[in-house]
Amino acid sequence: MNQPSVNKYAVIGGGLAGCLMAARLVMRGQEVVLIDHPQPNSASKVAAGLFNVITGRFGAKSWLADTLLEKLNQFLQIPAFLSLQPYVHYQKIYRPFREVAEFNKWQNRTADPRFQHLFELVENPVYEEQIINPHGGINILPCGWIDLKGFLKEMKRILTQNLGVNYFEALIDYEEIDHQKKVINSSFGHISFDHLIFCQGASTISNPFFSYLPIIPNKGELLTIHAPDLQLPFILSKKVYLIPLGEQYFLTGSTYQNQFSHTEPTEEGKAEICQFLDQAINVPYKIVEQQAGVRPTTKDRRPIAGTHPQFPYIHIVSGFGTKGVLLSPYISELMADLLVGTQKKLPEEVHISRFRR
Ligand SMILES: Cc1cc2nc3c(=O)[nH]c(=O)nc-3n(C[C@H](O)[C@H](O)[C@H](O)COP(=O)(O)OP(=O)(O)OC[C@H]3O[C@@H](n4cnc5c(N)ncnc54)[C@H](O)[C@@H]3O)c2cc1C
Repeated sequence: MNQPSVNKYAVIGGGLAGCLMAARLVMRGQEVVLIDHPQPNSASKVAAGLFNVITGRFGAKSWLADTLLEKLNQFLQIPAFLSLQPYVHYQKIYRPFREVAEFNKWQNRTADPRFQHLFELVENPVYEEQIINPHGGINILPCGWIDLKGFLKEMKRILTQNLGVNYFEALIDYEEIDHQKKVINSSFGHISFDHLIFCQGASTISNPFFSYLPIIPNKGELLTIHAPDLQLPFILSKKVYLIPLGEQYFLTGSTYQNQFSHTEPTEEGKAEICQFLDQAINVPYKIVEQQAGVRPTTKDRRPIAGTHPQFPYIHIVSGFGTKGVLLSPYISELMADLLVGTQKKLPEEVHISRFRR
């Protein structure tokens, strides 16, 4: 088989999308420059990091759930990335039933091959002195959460120290990109490239190459609480999630807001989370931190990947919405295979061509 030729890729954005793209390309023998403007409230840094395949009000199985889980697990097994594992916490998610009728639905699903490997029934209430769950619920099994701040820091260390990725911290102004000459004339020097990949999350909306794409910035807020009487061996999911961080600290949230005037945490966000939290747990808690970030969502709830319709050397990976953890390994693999020529095209559901310029 022919070896793919070596090209130089400039990846703009160092959140989940950009770091995974850089990793996939460098693992395929490509030369990579990663440029990120690190922000403490970028979606990837604020995110709770959950990976869960049974979500939403009706407990639907997520799109491509089994594939996405497999791709995440495969990525975490790549020898070069094994040092990411301490940041990954495989932990079941307990989802209490809202009403008795839900029990029957899930009992039927124990015989459904699409669902049966994903959950177990919990027929009676558990930890009743701590959480409100009068009808029992389900444990969702192949799931957990990733400490994304630590994960991305370690990822950048691996990429730069072990895999030869050049990394710069800077905000790239579009004026600095001379795309015809294939060079970024930035404050830290001239970066030439064969291909440019934008992985900017919600900031995609201000990108002149891709402003026609329907990325919808969606603000989310979450809280860190301390609840000394709460000792849960699982993640709780009851309108809000509650992730045990250790020593009775928990991450809880989040809110979903398409209309917002700023990206800072708000009193309304805090009140909304506390309202649901009070319906989920029976014990006192103290709020110790509040954070907010902006998700890159899309109307059809599918990510966007592909090449600019006019410029074959300009690409995008974005639109991970509420599922960056599960989507980034899958989409980055598809995109990297497309770019190095080992894959001919992307699946239509994620392809940029579903949107007209
Ligand atoms: C409150 C909240 C909770 C969430 N919880 C979860 C969860 O539990 N599980 C889950 O899977 N997902 C969750 N998400 C969603 C997840 O965070 C996103 O899907 C994912 O992080 C998006 O990654 P990204 O790399 O596309 O974007 P980002 O993380 O936003 O990264 C984009 C990066 O590009 C940089 N950038 C942009 N423009 C430029 C430029 N011109 N020059 C240089 N750098 C630039 C930005 O500064 C940023 O660092 C949550 C999001 C929020 C806000």
